Amino acid sequence: MSFTLKRREFLMVSAGGGALVTGALAGCGDGENTRLGGPRSPASVGSSGSGASGAAGASPGAAGAAGEPSVGAGGAPGSGGEGGALPTCGRVTAPNIEGPFFKPSSPERSDLREVGTTGVLLELRGTVYGADCAPLAGAILDFWQADETGAYDNAGSTYRGHQTTDAQGRYTLLSIVPGRYLNGATYRPAHIHVKAAGAGTMLLTTQLYFPDDPYNAGDAFIVPSLIMDVTEQASGLLVASFDFVLPLA
Ligand code: FE
Repeated sequence: MSFTLKRREFLMVSAGGGALVTGALAGCGDGENTRLGGPRSPASVGSSGSGASGAAGASPGAAGAAGEPSVGAGGAPGSGGEGGALPTCGRVTAPNIEGPFFKPSSPERSDLREVGTTGVLLELRGTVYGADCAPLAGAILDFWQADETGAYDNAGSTYRGHQTTDAQGRYTLLSIVPGRYLNGATYRPAHIHVKAAGAGTMLLTTQLYFPDDPYNAGDAFIVPSLIMDVTEQASGLLVASFDFVLPLA
């Protein structure tokens, strides 16, 4: 089963949540859309990311963490799986909870930076692949995140935006390191939310994390394969990379 995803359709289906969409398309859930409880932090506890690289990325073929939810046909690189499973070049990007702060109809833009921000500037780059290893041109990525104080803009569109991959499936997001916020009694590690889909894929809802965040270890939702590769430039800019592998519909 495949379909051609247009931006309007993406924005519409995204509003319904990943589980609804993936269920409708292929009968495959994307994990629980568990809502994050607890109040937001009134203030940041500092930006994350020391710049040290070495965390596991999610490039095609990267192994996921034990116990993480699976989407579509994972398995060994190049494996076609069993029982007529979809062709795959490796494990697809792990889904992660949507959380309560997604808003549909974000602006189309790749630069989320706000004038005067005190956040650590971040440049995230990567490529979107289908589970058959083919780069996905025209795939849509819809990002949303907290500001440097850990607050989401639920009234407007600050630090929200969607973009389309280029002819080689590449994307670039210019933003800041999100502030952490309280989830119950503990802070969630810094993270960026994203919904991603391309022609012939299911909708993936997930989150990207930073290496060396001290709150990674105690977080209930983090999946190691969702930790970006991050390096810090002399200017202080964090340059991150993350490749998505989307489950085929
Ligand atoms: Fe969040």
